[in-house]
Amino acid sequence: MSRFKEMNHNELVAQLQFFKDIGVESLAVGAVGEAQARERAAPSNAPPLDAHRAPVQDLESVRAEIGDCQRCKLAPKRTNIVFGSGNPSAELVFVGEAPGYDEDQQGLPFVGRAGQLLTKIIESINLKREDVYICNVLKCRPPENRNPEPDEVAACNPFLKKQLAAIRPKVVCCLGTFAAQTVIQTAAPISRLRGKFFDLDGMRVIATFHPAYLLRSPEKKREVWEDMKQIRAELFRLRS
Ligand code: URA
Repeated sequence: MSRFKEMNHNELVAQLQFFKDIGVESLAVGAVGEAQARERAAPSNAPPLDAHRAPVQDLESVRAEIGDCQRCKLAPKRTNIVFGSGNPSAELVFVGEAPGYDEDQQGLPFVGRAGQLLTKIIESINLKREDVYICNVLKCRPPENRNPEPDEVAACNPFLKKQLAAIRPKVVCCLGTFAAQTVIQTAAPISRLRGKFFDLDGMRVIATFHPAYLLRSPEKKREVWEDMKQIRAELFRLRS
């Protein structure tokens, strides 16, 4: 937990309060915590990750290909395309549903209230927001934050796939039903999908509840914490 050393008192109190909120009862520290996490990591039948495989297209060129996108009916109403942000070589990518009001205004993913909670969730496994990459299935805001429609997903999903191919993360965490069903290509509900890994194009994919849902149903934070511990353990396993 070396990150704690960099925190001031208020940040530390806020982080510990978050751990309490999500039901953490004890904290394993340093090398002991890492070893425990490694031991807990479930074995995978996934083929070994080929770290030296060259990306087909880098992120900048994917963004350039999107251009001033007019491929679906969301284009006329958007303020900004929300492509994604973070580390272009991230080991861990979070995929959300679609930009909301704040994201549309700023052109950045997860910057509203749900985004602040996502930042805390990321920090709960000792990562910083800038270590990971965050993007959405849809790059434009659906009006009144309605659910994405099939033609919108059909237009946008190829770019999410190209983003993942460019980053080549070890682990992808889908946030909520919509991202999970799109990435894992299933109609199963999030309650059945969350908490277990799927293998997809050399990546380990896991789903958890969307942070916006956690704001409405805070009792589900406990399950998200379980999912985050699995992600942390899987990253340790894949690094070693
Ligand atoms: N919800 C999402 O799914 N994505 C965002 O970027 C913000 C909120």
